[in-house]
Amino acid sequence: MLDATADFSSLTLAEGRSPYSVSTSFPWAEVLVDCPGAQGFYTYRVPPELTVQAGDVLSVPFGGQQVGAIAIRRVAVLPNALDPDTVRDVEEVVCRHFFPPSYWDLLQRVATYYCTSLMQVVRTALPPGLLGRSQRRIRLNRSALPAAARCMNPAAQQLLSLLQTQKAGDYTWQYLQRQVKGAKSGLQELLNQGWVESYLETPTPIRPKQRQAVTLAVTPGLLDLSPRQQEVLDVLKRRGGELWLQELLQICRVSSSVVKSLEQKGGVVIQLREVLRTENSPRIVADQAKSLTSEQAAAVQAIATLQGFNRVLLHGVTGSGKTEVYAQAIAPLLEQGKSVLVLVPEIGLTPQLTDRFRARFGSAVQVYHSALSDGERYDTWRQMLSGTPQLVVGTRSAVFAPLPNLGLIILDEEHDGTFKQDQPAPCYHARTVAQWRAELEPCPLILGSATPSLETWAAIAPHAVIGTPHAVIGTNTADLPTSEATNQTLLQPNCLYLSLPTRVHARPMPPVEVIDMRQELQQGNRSIFSRSLQDALRNLQSRQQQGLLFIHRRGHSTFVSCRNCGYVMNCPHCDISLTYHQTHEGGTASLRCHYCGYGQSHPNQCPACSSPYLKNFGSGTQRVMQELERELPELRCLRFDSDTTRAKGAHRTLLTQFAQGEADVLVGTQMLTKGIDLPQVTLVGVVAADGLLHLADYRASERAFQTLLQVAGRAGRGSEPGRVLMQTYSPEHPVIEAVQRYDYEPFVQTELQHRAELAYPPYGRLILLRLSGLDGQVVQRTALALADRLRSHLSDDEILGPAPAAIARVANRYRWQILLKGQSPQRSTPPDLAEMRSHLPASVSLTIDVVPLNLL
Ligand code: ADP
Ligand code: ZN
Ligand code: ZN
Repeated sequence: MLDATADFSSLTLAEGRSPYSVSTSFPWAEVLVDCPGAQGFYTYRVPPELTVQAGDVLSVPFGGQQVGAIAIRRVAVLPNALDPDTVRDVEEVVCRHFFPPSYWDLLQRVATYYCTSLMQVVRTALPPGLLGRSQRRIRLNRSALPAAARCMNPAAQQLLSLLQTQKAGDYTWQYLQRQVKGAKSGLQELLNQGWVESYLETPTPIRPKQRQAVTLAVTPGLLDLSPRQQEVLDVLKRRGGELWLQELLQICRVSSSVVKSLEQKGGVVIQLREVLRTENSPRIVADQAKSLTSEQAAAVQAIATLQGFNRVLLHGVTGSGKTEVYAQAIAPLLEQGKSVLVLVPEIGLTPQLTDRFRARFGSAVQVYHSALSDGERYDTWRQMLSGTPQLVVGTRSAVFAPLPNLGLIILDEEHDGTFKQDQPAPCYHARTVAQWRAELEPCPLILGSATPSLETWAAIAPHAVIGTPHAVIGTNTADLPTSEATNQTLLQPNCLYLSLPTRVHARPMPPVEVIDMRQELQQGNRSIFSRSLQDALRNLQSRQQQGLLFIHRRGHSTFVSCRNCGYVMNCPHCDISLTYHQTHEGGTASLRCHYCGYGQSHPNQCPACSSPYLKNFGSGTQRVMQELERELPELRCLRFDSDTTRAKGAHRTLLTQFAQGEADVLVGTQMLTKGIDLPQVTLVGVVAADGLLHLADYRASERAFQTLLQVAGRAGRGSEPGRVLMQTYSPEHPVIEAVQRYDYEPFVQTELQHRAELAYPPYGRLILLRLSGLDGQVVQRTALALADRLRSHLSDDEILGPAPAAIARVANRYRWQILLKGQSPQRSTPPDLAEMRSHLPASVSLTIDVVPLNLL
């Protein structure tokens, strides 16, 4: 699916016939041009004196300018409509091999599978602004320049003089072209002589970043300090005398004016700094390989024997030591000169994993994620291309890291939803892309989790027995679910299932106690905390232990349930909970199914028990903090959610504070489920599991199960045993029962059967079409028309909707959606969605989400 061919008609490249006679059999190059408005591929002639290969960065004429471009491939014949006389020449190869060889195949596969343009994929994969800001420059090569250099070509002589008169001997090519007539032929001579070189300027010059640092001043006997100022001094002292201002403010929860006035009193000094002196001392102590448990050893050994593409499921309970297995699988590869890619859900939430790898592998570790500055990403990119063996730890987009010679790809917490991109296009899943990469390379792919996704389980595990302490190697000949399928490989490669069924040091899994909140209400307890949770929290301090309180992420608890009997309002047609809608704040509330569009008004009473406590469910972290303060004022609590962790580095700051015992309880959302490995945490409280159970989504159960088991797994990792208190209004819910018993496999089997019956992924293919626009009427009409068009290709039960999205209007845009459900897993060709797109009015935008994770 070459999205670009249609664009050739819009070429504005007519120019005189090229003077070169083209002798190679692939005289043309298809390139991506970096210019606003340029779309798709453009074809250029490759002059015989140039060698151009896929992955080279080029300079090409485009309209009236010289712009950056990337060579995609060489071709033998011109596209039909193109007159050879109008095709212009590639000007220069600015830098070679910007991508490893199989890279374009990978990007093309992503574009095809996720129904998006190659350019869109390129934008996601490449460091931002790579071409946009890059400029071709020419610099003098002084060491090669003879004392009295003379040129044949007058233009060359002029260029040379220009460059020589400048101290650095370095100009942009654009500038030189303006100054010297016939600069191009002149440059050719200088390049041939080796007297100058042409290079691509990095997007942003790399400047060390300066930030405000606060240092303790050596002023004895300060007077008149306010309690807050005193606290600031105390914190600074505890932390070695120096902290970033930002960090200090977060820890002390004071405004910068407090610190500024403290500076005036002589208590501290505020300065711009690149690094903290306290950071210069080696903070991370070098670490050695641990002696492995027998289960870990079996896993490491099995991985070491793998050759070529293999998919490995490393299924280890929380606290079983998966990171150590990764580390010992990685070490020999780095020694063999290979590189390794480790993908993690969120860098901010996994500082411990990154730290452990840094401690083990030192400077071989590179971190790559979207929070880096453009310049940092560009640098890391170049560093990766250098081919030195390295370990790249990154988030979802790092799956595109251009590491040549990959020896292994690891996805840690492979079930995590952040591996999927919702927007912008391509809506790719890093696990799927990682699998393609591993296949193309070829190298093994390890998917690690305590709660593997149904996709991974169905694809890898069916022939293995759960709980085996030893590796089971099986060749999986079962049909791959299409959502993870490559559309090509019919012959299944080797699949390896590795199990770590027990915790390190044989520590027990914390028992899960389920608390029926309906009974609490009936017995007169109106607090959001049950009596046993209150007691457990109260006891933390005296035992010098810590607890986590988990709350379901805000703003997603959109279902309506009865606080008295637990009844949940469901769609009569879809067996999915209805979604609470309000057109605007204070407006009338309605309930809708956003799968099929069914709607009804919000009843005043519970249909089951007539109680008036039929409510839109939800209690955010803020509310829980307030309740804690009211009911347990002596408890020291820290809030850990997207509001309190917005600033760069805030995750780490809060976690460090908590790890150092500055609070008894960490109150947080989904973030609590990841990467917290603290021995003193003995209590995990789930304030209300219900927020997770009744999401209007076919994946709700899977996600609830994973989240609850992950958060439970944070307790009892040290020598003191842990316990989990799980509050709910639906104690009989299968997810709650499965979590209580740590019953991964039976739960997954039931859930998979359910999915198979309804042809949901991993057994059927889902495609979500999201439409949005400023005019609600137009969006609705477009959605209906699109659904009609689709009906001519698909049967009725393959199209769900159109229906308004759960949040019907976001940022003034009205949203509708259509869900396409491929009944047969073999059906791999969706309708031509690109063609559909061409029928949309310009005011309505369409996002195509293949195998969506979020239907809200
Ligand atoms: P998981 O990721 O499987 O939940 P971790 O990798 O975080 O588990 O390991 C849990 C804890 O056990 C960590 O503190 C780790 O340092 C420790 N650990 C792992 N393997 C060993 C080992 N072989 N010997 C001693 N401690 C270990
Ligand atoms: Zn009721
Ligand atoms: Zn419905």
